[in-house]
Amino acid sequence: MFDNLSSKFASAFSSLRGKGRLKSNDLAEICAEIKTALLDSDVAISVAQDFVNKIQDRSELVLEEINKSTNPSQAVFNIVNEELTSILGGLARRIRLAKNPPTVILLTGLQGAGKTSLAGKLAKYLKDQGNTPLLVASDLQRPNAVTQLQVVGESVKVPVFAPEPGNGVGDPVKVARDGINFAKDKFHNIVIVDTAGRLGIDEELMAQAKRIRDAINPDEVLYVVDAMVGQDAVRSAQAFQEGVGFDAIVLTKLDGDARGGAALSITQITGKPIMFAATGEKVSDFDLFYPDRMASRILGLGDIQTLAEQAKNAFDTDTTAKFEKKFAEGEDFTLDDFLAQLEAMKKMGSMTKLLGMIPGANSGAMKKQLEQFDDSELVKTQAIVQSMTPLERNDPKVLNGSRRSRIALGSGRQVSEVNSLVERFTQAQKMMKQMRTGKGGMQLPPGMQMPPGMPAPAPIKKQAPAKKKSRSGNPAKRALES
Ligand code: GDP
Repeated sequence: MFDNLSSKFASAFSSLRGKGRLKSNDLAEICAEIKTALLDSDVAISVAQDFVNKIQDRSELVLEEINKSTNPSQAVFNIVNEELTSILGGLARRIRLAKNPPTVILLTGLQGAGKTSLAGKLAKYLKDQGNTPLLVASDLQRPNAVTQLQVVGESVKVPVFAPEPGNGVGDPVKVARDGINFAKDKFHNIVIVDTAGRLGIDEELMAQAKRIRDAINPDEVLYVVDAMVGQDAVRSAQAFQEGVGFDAIVLTKLDGDARGGAALSITQITGKPIMFAATGEKVSDFDLFYPDRMASRILGLGDIQTLAEQAKNAFDTDTTAKFEKKFAEGEDFTLDDFLAQLEAMKKMGSMTKLLGMIPGANSGAMKKQLEQFDDSELVKTQAIVQSMTPLERNDPKVLNGSRRSRIALGSGRQVSEVNSLVERFTQAQKMMKQMRTGKGGMQLPPGMQMPPGMPAPAPIKKQAPAKKKSRSGNPAKRALES
């Protein structure tokens, strides 16, 4: 979503890097470039203007120190990073649990924003944290909303309170109120109430949201926003904030290719933090929102923390411990280990998204590689490995011609694909040995090694230090400058 913005930031900073010592007009120039980039990305004018004003003012104030530092452009970059984190909300904000359970979370927003999908994602996240959530179907307007919530609830194994069929039948306020009572009776510690949206903010939507809010007195009102809608979404959020009020925002559809301006403007315009982000239709496409990590991604610094956390969640502790032990003891990486890793990788979500969190992945050759990566390769590779016997998985050297033909037949793939997998696997085995002996490749987060068949991430080139022109004929002064 932020590709365009990221590449404009990168080009603005690459011209600043070539400058060495910075002057006021260099700052004004980069601020103008940044402002244009923000406006192109659909960021609200007031937010873009405030943002560049802050960068200019802060940089001017410490310009002398900036120029004394070894890398002036990096010093400005750090200020931009801090200000970007700040417009994204500064500190991360999480659900506050009520002192007296159940904690009641009310989901509001326009129709199609992604509330019902979000209800399932949020329920799963909270359940994984050891809570006992209940979903309540108070969207009785949108066709099939009740059934959709039931299906979502079933898929994440969270019960759904749905006494009314919906499709225009039933009183949403009563359902919400009865849902809370049901949760109290059954000792659910969290209740997530899905409500109806409309196509636009209007009196009826606000009136219904207010009635539900007053009936159940929620601990958190979350306003769900479709980030693809751009500035319109920000305007609706503002109207809803003024008319009904909410505590935090959830951005959905961050996987889309819209320009991302809504995400950057909404916190400033509404004064409310973004709490969660949805990045796809699957239940697993859900992230906690961290302003600093998002700023890092936009500035092309990647998001290694999220990557490491996702790896940790996908690889259960037993599997990770087994790998680490094998690795430490110098045992061979087998196709069985490979299969376990493939399964974990699939749990982590789309490979393209994951690799996109690696620093530098947003630019040049790496980006092209990512765009070409086909996630269905994982499934094909898995089918081939699953068609092998335990002996073959443990010792691929036994794979002669007839065994390879049998595997190809069993997995519905070509013999050439089996050959290619075995070859890549053998290379990966070698790579693992090299990593163990400290001779090889890049380091990935603990517990996560790239399975063979994946495009190896391109090594990240170190930025060559900007060449500085000698600015003074006086050696003592020059030494001071550098
Ligand atoms: P509601 O009317 O607010 O309850 O919206 P839904 O939850 O039914 O979502 C509307 C559509 O958006 C559905 O087709 C969802 O699958 C889709 N959707 C929801 N969240 C996301 C997301 O983060 N990314 C993408 N690409 N689609 C999403």
